[in-house]
Amino acid sequence: MPYRYRCHDCRAEQPEAGDRAEAEAFRDRHRQWAHGGLAPDNEQIERVPAGGRDHDGRYVSSSAALLLLAVLAVVSLGARALGH
Ligand SMILES: [Zn+2]
Repeated sequence: MPYRYRCHDCRAEQPEAGDRAEAEAFRDRHRQWAHGGLAPDNEQIERVPAGGRDHDGRYVSSSAALLLLAVLAVVSLGARALGH
């Protein structure tokens, strides 16, 4: 599940959702740049619903494809074993 940092005080948000560590790194940089190292009142790290175009979504899709190939390979081997 990707995360995105959002600062409501500045009406700013992290342009690309990433993992939790990326969102926290973005938050730290934003605090330095925009707030002199202080933590603004209205900031949050939000979970971004898994969509088709974010990094994690693609990762899950390729994992599912690999799993499907592995299952097909096992089924194929099983069918050959039964055939003999
Ligand atoms: Zn801010």
